This record gives sequence, structure tokens and C-alpha cells, in this order.
Amino acid sequence: MTKNNESGWNFENSYAGLPKALFTLTDPTPVSAPELIILNEKLAATLGLSAEELESDEGVEVLAGNEIPEGALPLSQAYAGHQFGHFTMLGDGRAVLLGEQITPEGERMDIQLKGPGRTPYSRGGDGRAALGPMLREYIISEAMHALGIPTSRSLAVVKTGDPVYRETVLPGAVLTRVAASHLRVGTFQYVAKWRTIEELQALVDYTIKRHFPEVEAAENRAQSMLREVIKRQAKLISKWQLVGFIHGVMNTDNMTISGESIDYGPCAFMDTYDPETVFSSIDVQGRYAYGNQPYIAAWNLARLAESLLPLLHDDQEQAIQLAQDEISEFNKLYHTHWFKGMRAKLGIFDEEAEDEALIEGLLDMMKKHRADYTNTFRALTFETKGDAALFDSPEFDEWKRLWQERVGRQQESKDSSKKLMQESNPAVIPRNHRVEEALDAAVKKGDYSVLERLLEVLSHPYAHTRDQEAYATVPESCGPYQTFCGT
Ligand code: AMP
Ligand code: MG
Repeated sequence: MTKNNESGWNFENSYAGLPKALFTLTDPTPVSAPELIILNEKLAATLGLSAEELESDEGVEVLAGNEIPEGALPLSQAYAGHQFGHFTMLGDGRAVLLGEQITPEGERMDIQLKGPGRTPYSRGGDGRAALGPMLREYIISEAMHALGIPTSRSLAVVKTGDPVYRETVLPGAVLTRVAASHLRVGTFQYVAKWRTIEELQALVDYTIKRHFPEVEAAENRAQSMLREVIKRQAKLISKWQLVGFIHGVMNTDNMTISGESIDYGPCAFMDTYDPETVFSSIDVQGRYAYGNQPYIAAWNLARLAESLLPLLHDDQEQAIQLAQDEISEFNKLYHTHWFKGMRAKLGIFDEEAEDEALIEGLLDMMKKHRADYTNTFRALTFETKGDAALFDSPEFDEWKRLWQERVGRQQESKDSSKKLMQESNPAVIPRNHRVEEALDAAVKKGDYSVLERLLEVLSHPYAHTRDQEAYATVPESCGPYQTFCGT
């Protein structure tokens, strides 16, 4: 049923213009008793949507997948992916794209329902999602956005009134996800593996038009597109590393072409600094450990490059050379971004050859003394004492002396250095125990106040206000944390 449009839906459906193999028209499956749990009013406004209308019964019917808004053309997308290194056919097993909302600013944003019931790509799954994990995605994606990291956004979570069956029976929910697009490395892998060169070319053309209009006139369009994706991913992954974000499931189907973080399943933020940190219960090998993320990103991008080989050059050997040249740029770009970010975290504006050793020296000590990553930088910013084991150690005294000398050598004042640190070191990240506390209250007690408070605190991570203090500490009692996939 098509709903009249008071909410401000302003859809175009360019994805449906791609070759038919790339998607299947799929309506969401209606749910019994939609109840709006949370709506992102600010995001709604930037999308040109009326929060008031979205909150109305009719608005919620749309967010639950019970009604199709005017102009939408629901579809699920086809894609493949390397999951933990193994290549397989996937597709939106539990997501439906309603369409692309054209915002008042003229931006094109995918509006996708996550958890709307089975699709042709559901395989054995039920196409549904549980309330806890959808609220978790809402919290983390909005926290990432506030931290200044490109990410898919969360517009709303609606409780469906229907149960979902996992290890236990859980309340079902639908998340409305917003992204610049849901094109992934896996989209290209799917076409390269099973479809024609013409279809691959159409996908490249579409991607360039949508995300990289600046290379529209390039001589080698596929190569230029690859280069732009590599640039965006190098920047993105450096930002993850700088805040201690661990994605947890960096399969090629979860890596976007737009350079946004996407698919918040078993992700979490690192507390104590250790490059080997893994939270996901299914990542037994540590493939997606914190310290591995840049290598995995480069590996995933090599899969993208591989998919583009037929378009890079008629001569496949030359195509491989071009692909390798582009991929080898990733490490350089990543390190440039990461060093710049690390310098900023230490209040350093310019560059000196010894900076690398200074940064590595701090990280080594943090690892050795099991210091909290975020709070060490906070303590340095505000010249307070961080974890005692680190801050009381003689080697730290020596390091601090070198660091202060280094900061003193630059032209910028001490004040501007401190300001830079404040802007580069978050006061709060979504600490695991705080996220769990909010989800527990919401799912078990129907109390959403803890969640709302947490979202508020996380929405201005660089403000360093007094009320954020309580969200910055980790209780001693918090044991090892584990996250779970596909719930
Ligand atoms: P993810 O690792 O969450 O990105 O999911 C990997 C694949 O499994 C994607 O193709 C998802 O659409 C699919 N999937 C995850 N959960 C479900 C579910 N409950 N029902 C159907 N498909 C699912
Ligand atoms: Mg996924």
C-alpha cells in the first residue's frame, strides 16, 4: 500500500536503473505492532523529513516496513563477499532499500530498512533483527558520526511487536539506516565473478556518477575510481585507529565504496591499549584485531582491484601492474593520515623526523602498562594523571620530558597546542559497559532513559564537560568483553 507523503519523503531510485542482476525488487514484510523506540530528529531535519510526521502512526508504519512511502521502490541488493577470507554469494539478507532520499541540500542518501523480513538473499536467515543489536548500531553509528568519522547513520528504531528466535527469544526491531550508498567491495566482486564486463562497466559508471564525479572525465575511469576508494578508505581506517574503534567483521561485503563505516555488528571500542584486541566471539583467529585493521583494509581493496582488472587494461598483465601500483598507495596514505592524527593527539602541528619514535614510544608504554587508550590521551591533554602503572613509571617521565620539549620547539603557542589536543582526543567513547547498561535497561525493562542520556553524552565527544567524567571511567569489575554477530 502506498502512503500519502506528509513526512517529506523525496525519493529517487537510481539503483533500480542498474542492470537487473544487481538487485531484486522486494517489499518489506509487515509486522504486528510497530512501536517507535527512538527517532533521530536532527538527522531527520537534514534529510528534509518532518520528525513530527515520522512519529505519527502513519510515519511509524513506514519505519516498520508496513507501508511503502510515496516514491519508494523497495529492493534488496545483490553482492558477494569474502567472509573471514572465504568467498561467497551474499546480498541483502535482512535489508531493503526504500530509495534514495534527495535532501534539501541536494544530497542523495540511501534509506534502508534493516530487519524487514526475508529477501531472495536471506539464505537460511529470517531477515529479521533484534531490538538490542539495532539499538547498539544506533548508539555506535551516531557516536562515530559525532567523533567525526564517516559512517552510515541511524534514523530510527521501531520495535515490531514480533519475536525473533536466536539462542533465546528476543523482541524484534527494524532500524532505518541512512548512508551515502550501500555499494560495497562485494558488489564489484559479485559482478566480476558472475556477470558480464558490460555490467561491470555499468556499475563503475554508476559509482563514479554517484560518488566520484571529479573523475568522470578521467582517461582510465576504473583506475581513477579505484584510486579514490583507496584514498577514502585510507582516511577512514586511520580515523578508526586513532579513536580505538574495532569493526570486528571487516569482510569485503562490509567495506563501502563511499568510504563510510558500515555494518555495526560485533564492533566495539578498545579500552586498554593492545593491538591484538579482539571483541568478536566469532573472530577466533584474531583476523580482525585492532592492529590488523589497516592490513585487512588493504587486502579488501586488493579484492576490489582484482574485480576491476578487465576494465583497467586490455592487457591483463598491465592491468595487474596498474592494480598493484594503486594498492601500494594505501599504506603510504594510511600512514600519512595516521601520523598526522597522532601528532594532533599530542598537540603537534608540524613534522619532525623523530615524531615517529615519540609516538611509538608512547604506544609501547601503553601496551606494556595496559593503560587505557582514550584516557591516556585525555590525561596528557589536561595534564592530569592517567593510569598509575604508566604515569608513575620512570620511562614515562623521560618520555614526557621529550614530548614537552618537542611541543615547545614548534611555533604555535602552548594554548593552541592544548586546543588541538582537546579537539583530537575524545572525552568519551561508547564504553562497552555503558552500551550494555543502556541496552539492558531498554530491552529488559523498557526504560529508554539510560540510552537517551548515553546518546546525549556521546553526541559531543570533544566538549570535555564535567558531566562526561562518569562516562570516561571503566570500573575495575569489567572483565573481558565479547560481542556477538548476526543477532
Ligand atoms: P553481516 O556480517 O551482518 O554483514 O551479514 C552477512 C550476511 O548475512 C549478509 O548478507 C546479511 O544480509 C546476512 N544476514 C545476517 N543476518 C541475517 C538474518 N537474520 N536473516 C537473513 N540474512 C541475514
Ligand atoms: Mg553486512
